[in-house]
Amino acid sequence: NVRVRFAPSPTGPLHIGGVRTALYNYLFAKKHNGSFILRIEDTDQKRYVKGAEEYIVETLNWCGIPFDEGIGKDKGFGPYRQSERKHLYKEYADLLINTNKAYYAFDTNQSLEQYRKDHEEKGKTFIYNHHNREKLDNSLTLSKVELEKRLNNGEPYVIRFKTPVGSTIVLNDMIRGKMEVDSNLLDDKVLFKSDGMPTYHLANIVDDYLMEISHVIRGEEWLPSLALHQLLYDAFKWEAPKFAHLPLIMKPIGKGKLSKRDGDKMGFPVFPLEWINSEGEKYSGYREDGYLPEAVVNMLALLGWNPGTEKEIFSLAELIQEFELERVHKAGAKFDPEKTNWFQHHYLQQLEDDKLVLAYKKLLDQHQIITSLNLEAILKLVKERITFVSDLWDETQFFFKAPKAYDEAAANKCWKEETDKVMQAVLIILKKEASFTQEILSKEVKNWITNAGIGFGRVMQPLRLSLVGEMKGPDVFAIMEILGKDEVIQRLENAIK
Ligand code: GLU
Repeated sequence: NVRVRFAPSPTGPLHIGGVRTALYNYLFAKKHNGSFILRIEDTDQKRYVKGAEEYIVETLNWCGIPFDEGIGKDKGFGPYRQSERKHLYKEYADLLINTNKAYYAFDTNQSLEQYRKDHEEKGKTFIYNHHNREKLDNSLTLSKVELEKRLNNGEPYVIRFKTPVGSTIVLNDMIRGKMEVDSNLLDDKVLFKSDGMPTYHLANIVDDYLMEISHVIRGEEWLPSLALHQLLYDAFKWEAPKFAHLPLIMKPIGKGKLSKRDGDKMGFPVFPLEWINSEGEKYSGYREDGYLPEAVVNMLALLGWNPGTEKEIFSLAELIQEFELERVHKAGAKFDPEKTNWFQHHYLQQLEDDKLVLAYKKLLDQHQIITSLNLEAILKLVKERITFVSDLWDETQFFFKAPKAYDEAAANKCWKEETDKVMQAVLIILKKEASFTQEILSKEVKNWITNAGIGFGRVMQPLRLSLVGEMKGPDVFAIMEILGKDEVIQRLENAIK
């Protein structure tokens, strides 16, 4: 029975690394007819950010990978916010105390700071572990009576894990294989804090156990915690879930991990949705930038996983079918914004025309354009060139606004002395034309050009410039058909004088 969880901390918006973790969990769950659980790990109250939880939920929904189980969808394993499970963790911390796997520590922050400094001065690093744990201020050396007294006095304490000494911890990761860690190198991590909250490590293990999580799929940054987690499972005598640590996502240029600052600095989003932080700084998001969720999901799926074939375009259903954790690679995955746009272009082309027309109408509204032109026809002409709906504005605004000025370089090149006369002649043909269609116009004008013995470019280029204002756009005769006779004549006359 596959049960996986995505367990973000609500400390801000998810960046694409987090979304990828969620996606891989989702794919794995669906592939195995399992459950995809969302658990909010909000035990660190200092880092709690308002709105982050909503952001996470909205992101999953926008990506089309909603959770099966979580807040508002309790399947008997809730609550799904760790802050609401607070009462549970102490019990488990006590269990470890009672079995001598953990101990109380009363050291103050100041005294620990002092130890750190003293060590530093001698060129050493202070680690709270078997080397010194019995010399520090904790329950390992206190008598029962003394301990009781200090606890009863309400002295603040933390609970630390008593890392076993001299053992080799054998770890297994579905992506990385077998690893071994020397337990002597680990510190005695705090499991329970003086504020009455568990640390990430304790809460995470207890919840994965209580929620019957079968596979833990998470980012590589948690790999260093795996040894401790394994030791905790052993200490509780619980069977550990299977683990898979996903590769880091690297910057597109240069070295290092992709950070939330990289995106806006380099002109691409790294957040699924727009985010405005408490200082009012705005980070752009894929959704607001006009990306389709299908494109983002497809891009993310291949950021660390490969199907073993050349295939790159995957629907969500295909991803579910073909995704395998064993095919996730260990090496960092380089994020590629260009490739994201390539996916975006592909999925935009797949959109049905009537959906695009609706979006097109909205875009024109935003630009305060009221028009009776055939939008579907315009769309068909330029669709292949656009990657975003918003590109339609640049590509087609000349349909709605007659040129007020003409591209100077182009005008200098194509508007010669005789061009006014040539255009007059074209005007005469156009004025006579009763059925103003691309096909007929093209035939008539081209025949005339051939008979008159003028170079093609000498007619077609000024014609385009008159209608568009610059040397771009689709077929000139297609433009004419859509603009209609009156408008075309008007634009030519404007250009001539
Ligand atoms: N709360 C952790 C995070 O924010 C979860 C890590 C895990 O999946 O174990 O990434």
